[in-house]
Amino acid sequence: MLLKPRVESDELKILRFLNNRMILPVKDKKRYIYLEKGYRGEMFFDQLTADLQPKFYIINDLCLEFNNSVFQIDTTIIAQDKIFPIEVKNYEGDFYYDNDSKGFFTLAKDEIKNALDQLKRSKSLLNPLLKKHGFYLPLEGYVTFVNPEFTLYQAPLNEPIVYPTQLNKFMEKLNKIPSKLNERHKKLAELLISMHQTDSPYKRLPPYEYHQVEKGLTCAKCQSFVPSVSGKYFTCICGYKEDVETAIIRSVREIQLLFPNLKITTNLVYEWCMVIHSKKVIREVLKKNFVVVGDRHLRYYI
Ligand SMILES: [Zn+2]
Repeated sequence: MLLKPRVESDELKILRFLNNRMILPVKDKKRYIYLEKGYRGEMFFDQLTADLQPKFYIINDLCLEFNNSVFQIDTTIIAQDKIFPIEVKNYEGDFYYDNDSKGFFTLAKDEIKNALDQLKRSKSLLNPLLKKHGFYLPLEGYVTFVNPEFTLYQAPLNEPIVYPTQLNKFMEKLNKIPSKLNERHKKLAELLISMHQTDSPYKRLPPYEYHQVEKGLTCAKCQSFVPSVSGKYFTCICGYKEDVETAIIRSVREIQLLFPNLKITTNLVYEWCMVIHSKKVIREVLKKNFVVVGDRHLRYYI
């Protein structure tokens, strides 16, 4: 039973918008691609856990803190006698495991994040955190590699890793675990969800300003800039059709996320979208869907 669905992080959303509207510095572009890929892998894994029998509680994407250390768990499955913290990795391509250094490397010998270490760290923090709140269920963690194009050479045999070809078996194995949840498990799940932290993404972003980013209305599906809009609907070159009202609301949300300090006014949205030629239409949409603050000439929307 899913108790906490996964949502896209603000950081991913902002980087996606920025990537579309400016040239990101190399390091931020890399991070954007990493986050986008990671999210897709997690969504894929969510589809698998969605089919598990309802005898488990499933909590997606937890960010917790214990003893001033922050840790993240991609998927947490609570069963009657055990908790399964699961790390989901969407690595694609050929990698190898080096037994001496216990590290993961690309074939070009670049070391990548060690998912086993990440899992170990999460477990070592989750365990005392739960004990502190009076929960003593043992933890059984796994690292799952979900991309079908992932290969690991010299894979270690005795590590809790689930490879792409083993995912279905893994789900079957989970389904076979006898489990009956009670109020105590519910309390545990609610505790974890209540401790989930969402931190501000703004400190990790590259510097950007309003005048630096390209303006224009973008397609909700393929992100390309919409060349022109006439009437109540428009169709992107990708074939996606959207009504103008939804597109304006979406654009306002984008401005709000990118520039939380800017006041949303008719003129600002007009300038941002570029292809909606009626300020009256924009004003009506803002009035209908947002809260008006201030008097006539200083009016803005939240
Ligand atoms: Zn499109």
